Amino acid sequence: MLPFGFDNTYVRDLPGCYRPCLPAGAPAPRLLFLNQPLADELGLDLGALSSADAAALFAGNALPEGAEPIAQAYAGHQFGGFSPQLGDGRALLLGEVIDRSGHRRDIAFKGSGRTPFSRGGDGKAAVGPMLREVLIGEAMHALGIPTTRALAVVATGEPVFREQPLPGAVLTRVAASHLRVGTFEYFAARGEREKLHQLAAYALARHDPQRLAAPGRALALLQAVAERQATLVAQWLNVGFIHGVMNTDNMAISGETIDYGPCAFLEAYDPAAVFSSIDHGGRYAYANQPHIARWNLARLAESLLPLMAEADDEPALQRAVAQVTMVIDAFPARCAAALLQGQRAKLGLLAAQAADDEADTTLADDWLALLHTQAVDFTLAWRRLADAAEGDEQPLRALFAAPEALAAWLQRWHARCQRDDAAGGPGAAERAARMRRVSPWIIARNHRVEEALAAASDEDDLGPFQHLLAALRRPYDETPALARYAEPAPAELTACYRTFCGT
Ligand code: AMP
Ligand code: MG
Repeated sequence: MLPFGFDNTYVRDLPGCYRPCLPAGAPAPRLLFLNQPLADELGLDLGALSSADAAALFAGNALPEGAEPIAQAYAGHQFGGFSPQLGDGRALLLGEVIDRSGHRRDIAFKGSGRTPFSRGGDGKAAVGPMLREVLIGEAMHALGIPTTRALAVVATGEPVFREQPLPGAVLTRVAASHLRVGTFEYFAARGEREKLHQLAAYALARHDPQRLAAPGRALALLQAVAERQATLVAQWLNVGFIHGVMNTDNMAISGETIDYGPCAFLEAYDPAAVFSSIDHGGRYAYANQPHIARWNLARLAESLLPLMAEADDEPALQRAVAQVTMVIDAFPARCAAALLQGQRAKLGLLAAQAADDEADTTLADDWLALLHTQAVDFTLAWRRLADAAEGDEQPLRALFAAPEALAAWLQRWHARCQRDDAAGGPGAAERAARMRRVSPWIIARNHRVEEALAAASDEDDLGPFQHLLAALRRPYDETPALARYAEPAPAELTACYRTFCGT
């Protein structure tokens, strides 16, 4: 069997934080997807495996040498309400490997059967949602956004029962780690201070070894998570991504996007956009994501407080609360700064002095307000702005129902670009080229994703999935042959589009 070269620190260092558990296995495994570029990154020689052996391996029928499958314990705030015991109900961590760049990566199954944390669930997953995780994860990766990634998907050959029977699947997921805010909440809620302490030390050693020497480790961890999450959420906003279910159990300590359930990309720009079928209050709406990340950070901070002060030491506790509050209160500005940095690049502006922040923020906000008022496609608008940088405003105007409203804004923007150029800036052609490197032409559009998943799940036809995947892996190339992937969905379709969790 394939030598993964497992080195399983979670199992070794954190006894009591998981339960050993074996995958259920599949009656008739069939390989649907294998991520060759990722396998290469991991140093896995999958070419040596027959398709049948790969299917058996990634179905959990034949465990690779050195795998120590476990279900991780975690809790989580779901839509604001606390669930003290969630955990891997349909996932198993197989082990950890060191990739070619020296980074430790988790290899985990999703949909591999019941675990001690399954509660009423069947522990299974269906082909459609697992291939969806492949598509969106690879799209995010190609956009340069930190994300867990799919290594393989196997059809199990048995049905899973949702509203109707669906073909079952197991996904193999690769992550920087599967530590979540909810992992800390689990032990904090149980008053297990020693476990919390071990977890915090483990998380720092794994993700922030340079901070291990910091005097206040818990605070250092909170700070690191806040920094990563601010950058991540800003990147989401700048590509129009809506995670859809940012519960604390779906927010990774590593700063990777994790748990692709009801996520979607914006079409027409709308800060209030929600696609998730269960998000009635818009808690996880597009523009609410920075607020929710901050809310989740506050839950992490509460969980870490027991490490910062003894419960009966009131002055120490007050000091600790003041320290974590500073980190949490600084989050909105941190996220806004990361957002502005990304927006400047998308606007073709040079990194500016702090004195320009307010004016540049207004310039970006006014642009977005124009897109909002006229329901303009977010992705195409940014892309066509690059054409306007080179003097061709027509393709941009064509996206607006009332293009006159654009003129005044374009004038301000051109003036700001000229100011950069007067100070040695890149000039029109280079500016446009740079803009096209940060604003994608192709995103995972909902209608294309659904089309590909329906063909795979209902017709057993992987062609549309493979073509879409190939397009998503080259998001910045404007290749005419791929034009169908760049086209917005009909507005009626987007208006009724709903995504689902836990499917
Ligand atoms: P998610 O919505 O996928 O983030 O999952 C939330 C929680 O429900 C996690 O604890 C999952 O492990 C659990 N869960 C979701 N689907 C299933 C399932 N089919 N069987 C068992 N547990 C599940
Ligand atoms: Mg989850």
